[in-house]
Amino acid sequence: MNITLNTAVSELWKVGKVTASRLKKLGVETVYDLLMYYPFRYDDFSVITPIANIQPHQPVTIHGEIMMIANKKTARQGMNITEAMIQDAHGDTIPCIWFNQPYLAKTLSIGTRIALSGTPEYGYRNALQFTSPQYEKIISSSHIHTGRLVPIYPTTANLTQKQIRFLIQTAMESVNNVSDWIPDAIKTDAHLISRKEAIKEIHFPTAQSSLAKAERRLKFEELFLTQLLAFTSRNHAQQSQAHALHFHEDAIKSFVAGLPFILTDDQKKTAWHIIQDCEHTMPMNRLLEGDVGSGKTAVAAIAMLNCALNNVQAVLMAPTEILARQHFQTLMELFAHTSPQPSPCKGEGGISPTIALLTNSEHRLYTLNNKKQKTYTKKQIIQAIADGTAHIVLGTHALIQEAITFHSIGLAIIDEQHRFGVEQRKMLMQKSIQTALSPHFLSMTATPIPRSLALTVYGDLDLSVIKQMPKNRKPIITRIIHPADRNTTYEFIRSHIKQGRQAFVICPLIEESDTLGIKAATQEYERLSRDVFPTITVGLLHGKLKPKEKQEIQEKFSSGVIDILVATSVVEVGVNIPNATIMVIEGAERFGLAQLHQFRGRVGRAHHQSYCFLFTSHAEQKNRLEALVNTTNGFELAEIDLTLRGPGDMFGTRQSGLPNLRIASLTDIALIAETRTHAKKLFEQDPTLQSWPTLKSLVEEYANKTHRE
Ligand code: ADP
Ligand code: MG
Repeated sequence: MNITLNTAVSELWKVGKVTASRLKKLGVETVYDLLMYYPFRYDDFSVITPIANIQPHQPVTIHGEIMMIANKKTARQGMNITEAMIQDAHGDTIPCIWFNQPYLAKTLSIGTRIALSGTPEYGYRNALQFTSPQYEKIISSSHIHTGRLVPIYPTTANLTQKQIRFLIQTAMESVNNVSDWIPDAIKTDAHLISRKEAIKEIHFPTAQSSLAKAERRLKFEELFLTQLLAFTSRNHAQQSQAHALHFHEDAIKSFVAGLPFILTDDQKKTAWHIIQDCEHTMPMNRLLEGDVGSGKTAVAAIAMLNCALNNVQAVLMAPTEILARQHFQTLMELFAHTSPQPSPCKGEGGISPTIALLTNSEHRLYTLNNKKQKTYTKKQIIQAIADGTAHIVLGTHALIQEAITFHSIGLAIIDEQHRFGVEQRKMLMQKSIQTALSPHFLSMTATPIPRSLALTVYGDLDLSVIKQMPKNRKPIITRIIHPADRNTTYEFIRSHIKQGRQAFVICPLIEESDTLGIKAATQEYERLSRDVFPTITVGLLHGKLKPKEKQEIQEKFSSGVIDILVATSVVEVGVNIPNATIMVIEGAERFGLAQLHQFRGRVGRAHHQSYCFLFTSHAEQKNRLEALVNTTNGFELAEIDLTLRGPGDMFGTRQSGLPNLRIASLTDIALIAETRTHAKKLFEQDPTLQSWPTLKSLVEEYANKTHRE
């Protein structure tokens, strides 16, 4: 059969329906997909070792002949064991066993010449033996499973390494047809080997040095695409027109003067960036980055107010109802000190915006004119949003439901942007009835992203960073708590609660839908309320509660009815309870540093001294957690996380909009910078990539893949 890149894997020899569906689960449907299915590591079996030289725990490859092979059953578990004795050319022997592969005794027989790769250990009677080694009959001089740098593929149960290797070897027949789409000039400049060579070498490396070249080439092309994508999407955004929002300087100054605190310099600076951007007809596309508690909401409020003063709407979408409501409350507080002016929202000086809150369970309006907050029917709020009487609109995903239309959005803000997909962001941007102008866009995040990484992940954004914390904050005292010190810690918490403070207890969970995590939190809640703190009011908050229940618990904690709140990571972002001064994190080793830092940011929000206790029984994780004890700087922690755990973990599993990289990593900082330079040059010469049609379509395809939820 003639194999092409488009041949379906199901047509390949030895691939039946079952194997094809297993491959599909790995995202492999065609021969080309197979070639693109890169190994994630290699075992070095490149040297053939005489049996006499074998050391325990060292991976080796041997060549020899089978002297004996037989199956037997273990008495107790009825497991099948295949035992063999191998002898090499020097006459030395080594035993070898496999489990539950009785057919081996048939396919391999006495006298078969065989290559084995594996890591011998001491076995029966303290003699070295191979256990389940890779094996291959020696027929010709080419080996794919043994005696070389053997590729190890990411795989799921039911597909063996051997099968995948075999299939990839088959696919390799068509490797000459893959196109090499990196422009020649760049290839020469960057010393890249050809794509074809790189693909061959990545699967079946001939030597460490050529493998390194292959890796460089394939990482380069991936990162190069991410960079081109960043440049072209930025270009795209710049082609549409936005509302030029006039800076209402006097009104904004009087608003700032009326705030219950003095803005930090960074808050002023970032607010200024945003206001300046919004003055242009080129749509703003800015990321506001600031550590938890750095006061991003006040900056957003300034931008939204200025937008409302231009008589167009500002909208802020938050990932949870708790956060949306909190923003609503914060805005009311911030506006409370501003004196309303008679002219509603028109011309200089009129500060009289109406703020709306819309989530699935709540619909409220606040008018600054009479400083009144009222609950309306959902229909009324939807109407106010549609006809423009609601100037500042806050809410959750509820805002992007079909039934909602805005009169005219001048500024769209997304809080904790990593919780949203690009699709949702797009939907929000397209909500205006007036479609001639597109909104300015601001996203906010508390995930401190190192700059190098930000350029890659958000290469199409401008970046504003709030580095300073408001002055009144005392650094939080962080301690790692050994299981033996649990009771003393509880004693400490008890005494603080007696003094009127409150505490969080976070239980590990990975996803909000994770029922195990909810179970853990529920059990912890029961244990704490019954056994540990019987005289203290303990509450429970997790993602599976109904919105109403969540809100009730949240309000009870806010108002001090609940003293200790046991929660899953629903409290991870944004929640603001100034009276809570203690954060306990159970199973702290399971979280990334950046995430732990987010949890910690829930306390220390007022003048009281606050504490963060990391409970862990994993002594080996102590070093990593120490970083949290030693620094309160979110950026430093993010850098450490990035090197220790990689970007995937840093952003959490739900992070979307991250490039979908097969081989490169966001930690390949030098290569990122290099590809960025090349992409920039190419982009400047040819912004629409019209002389590079293949590249253009790849970038488009890549954009779709990357921006998948
Ligand atoms: P985040 O950046 O995490 O979203 P918030 O905007 O929720 O932080 O602000 C955290 C708290 O700090 C709020 O209670 C807010 O009122 C307060 N705050 C904001 N800016 C300042 C400041 N300059 N000085 C004092 N407190 C501030
Ligand atoms: Mg916030």
